[in-house]
Amino acid sequence: MLKLSVSALHLCQHCPRLLGYFLEKNGKAWRIGHKGSGKLPGKYFHYISRKVHSDISGRGDQEKRQKLINAFGKPSKTRSSFVLETIKMEYFYPYLLDHGIKFGPDNAIALGAAMKVWSNYLCEMVTPHIDIGEKPDVVIRMVFQDASPMMKTEFITIDGTKVLVRGSTDGILFDITENTPIIVEYKGKMASNPTQELIQTALYSKMFYQNTGLFPGVHVLYLEEEEPLIRYSVDQIKTIIKGVPQLVERAKDVASGKRPILGTLDKNLCKQCFFFEQCEEKFGR
Ligand code: SF4
Repeated sequence: MLKLSVSALHLCQHCPRLLGYFLEKNGKAWRIGHKGSGKLPGKYFHYISRKVHSDISGRGDQEKRQKLINAFGKPSKTRSSFVLETIKMEYFYPYLLDHGIKFGPDNAIALGAAMKVWSNYLCEMVTPHIDIGEKPDVVIRMVFQDASPMMKTEFITIDGTKVLVRGSTDGILFDITENTPIIVEYKGKMASNPTQELIQTALYSKMFYQNTGLFPGVHVLYLEEEEPLIRYSVDQIKTIIKGVPQLVERAKDVASGKRPILGTLDKNLCKQCFFFEQCEEKFGR
């Protein structure tokens, strides 16, 4: 059985040859074509967001959960700033102190701005319900589902190869208004082709459906954009999922050493790629 991560398939979507380099343990392959300003320390943002999702969904620290509930329970005008402050005091600063992490001014500004965008988004998910008088802890229990569960799914390719795909999303929320579970992904700057980015979340959606029988929508929150949130409906995601088996076929071909392997058609991606000089020879024409 061939085992692949969702991230590896995402890389294959950018360029199958980049997946080839990654499978040879060439870590530089990840850095090609991933947008982002380079100023947002995404690793730390994701660490903190997962802790917050875990605690508030009731799977982690109960004391911190209660502090978050108290912040979400504030009046709507001040809610977002209380939530942001709680996240900084309870998660961000202790993490920096414990790990002795220091950022340059640009990184600290980008991270601060991303946390603000994120806390505004979380507040948007609960505000319409808390503001009509529903109890904050009840709303929070409904909205914040699992933190970032490891999910998996199996494919069988045309030649009969079993491919196990595993990965964990950034969070699962529940949209009370739409009565729909939501797969959430946090990203830096928007890619030039956001639909291509979506294959990753489409895979999580498929896994979620297989595990629960419910089809989720998708929210992608671009932490460094002025209009940060893009919502994808269940129907849009179902359409994108149709392209997944073809992607798995391509990834299986790369992993099994088949040649030639076609590269991306995006010449701009090639221009910024470390492997530009060698990849034609390596993967064939
Ligand atoms: S040079 Fe282009 S085709 Fe080759 S690995 Fe890089 S992105 Fe892919």
